[in-house]
Amino acid sequence: MSDALSALRKEVADVARQARELDPDAERLEEWSRAVAAHVLESVSVRGGEAAYTAEMGSEDTSLRETGVDIAAALAALGSVERTGINQTSGRHFAFIPGGGLFPAALGDLLADVANPYAGIRFAAPAAAALEHSLVRWMADLVGYPETAGGDLTSGASVATLEAIVTAREARPIAVADVDRTVVYLTEQTHHCVEKGLRIAGLGDCIVRRVQLDEKLRMEPAALDAAVRSDRESGLNPWLVVATAGTINVGSVDPLPMIADVADAYGLWLHVDAAYGGFFLLTAYGRDKLVGIDRSQTTVLDPHKGLFLPFGSGALIVRDVGQLAEAHRYSATYLNDARAGVDAWSASDLSIELSRPFRGLRLWLPLKLFGIAAFRAALEEKLLLARYFHAQLCALPGWEVGPDPDLSVVTYRYLPTNGDANGFNRRLLDAVLASGRAAISGTEVNGNYTLRLAVMHYRTHLNHVEELIELLVTQAERLEAA
Ligand SMILES: *Cc1c(COP(=O)(O)O)cnc(C)c1O
Repeated sequence: MSDALSALRKEVADVARQARELDPDAERLEEWSRAVAAHVLESVSVRGGEAAYTAEMGSEDTSLRETGVDIAAALAALGSVERTGINQTSGRHFAFIPGGGLFPAALGDLLADVANPYAGIRFAAPAAAALEHSLVRWMADLVGYPETAGGDLTSGASVATLEAIVTAREARPIAVADVDRTVVYLTEQTHHCVEKGLRIAGLGDCIVRRVQLDEKLRMEPAALDAAVRSDRESGLNPWLVVATAGTINVGSVDPLPMIADVADAYGLWLHVDAAYGGFFLLTAYGRDKLVGIDRSQTTVLDPHKGLFLPFGSGALIVRDVGQLAEAHRYSATYLNDARAGVDAWSASDLSIELSRPFRGLRLWLPLKLFGIAAFRAALEEKLLLARYFHAQLCALPGWEVGPDPDLSVVTYRYLPTNGDANGFNRRLLDAVLASGRAAISGTEVNGNYTLRLAVMHYRTHLNHVEELIELLVTQAERLEAA
């Protein structure tokens, strides 16, 4: 061997000694796995009972160094990272839309990450792709789309919404010159990710109409019809209507069949944002509320809400998968062989992403282990608990309560005998959070600050709702007295 080659071999051997630390032996892996499992199991059993909200941050050292530490030190350094803010493992979490975090989803992530199949390209991971396809098909059936449907498992509803907008933009093409005469129909209750998506998709200059709402904050189909007709007559280009099946603020469901009638009559693209409300389709009540959702072109669902998964799970379902593929098409010489002769879509054909985690497993494992009936029961429970809270608060003096919940969000506020209700309810929110006994959040409805209850945590049961009512009543009395 030449001297140069020998020197190179020695150099490789020198760095390899340290590089091999990235591939620990079985004994070390077992030690780490046991330590993490013990830590996690302790959190699972203990954390649900801890404060639902904690403001203070710890002072752990999370900085990075040249040399590694042992697992105990790493876990200790995590400390307040897991504990500060809203306790997402608490059944007393009623703020925003609670995220849940079913335990087997984390095990699914572990399985997925260790094997790390390349789920973006079917050739590289055909069985993983097939499993994800079956999950998309399950959701398409839930929505009621035909066999032509397909979709993408995304990181959340915001990305899924962007993909829906891009799909609509390509399928009902908008020339650049036409953007500023193109009209999108939303309401004041439409989630902000729609306008963000429009802007990112290059459609920030289109005309946005906020269609009038009824007294339950649902889109008025007659007002939509009138707006579209008038825009048409003025030579504008009515293009997209977004209906929401469960608004984030108040949980209202827009009248989907009547909106679909208007969309059909004028050839509008109908997108349904069912990020929060979509999985209520598993219940008879939800199917009734969301009737008409199957008439849309695209639907967004968030398994990290309605299926109680940890954050990072959204889904876009498209009636005609060919349109989704057309909008996300690409070519790359280095992938020609991997894509040749494969006659089914790969995730990357239907997505903004190329490399992506094997997201399906975190969804599949809980569904497989628990069975669908357990999810249906949990969702029915959330609907009933919201109605229970609504009825209870209606019966108590001093409270102004929003309409009967369409789904599992209730708005409410306390009307103090003296002074400004907005300021009072802000203080009430602060008092509830400071107590640590429940996490709640507020919003504005018709210009008034209002509190809201969102029942969506898999751990939330009747006793938690009763505890919240008791807490609200005592804190309101205390603030009234102060
Ligand atoms: C949560 C939510 C979104 C945004 O979803 P992310 O998963 O947070 O991106 C959009 N629309 C509605 C109705 C939602 O509830």
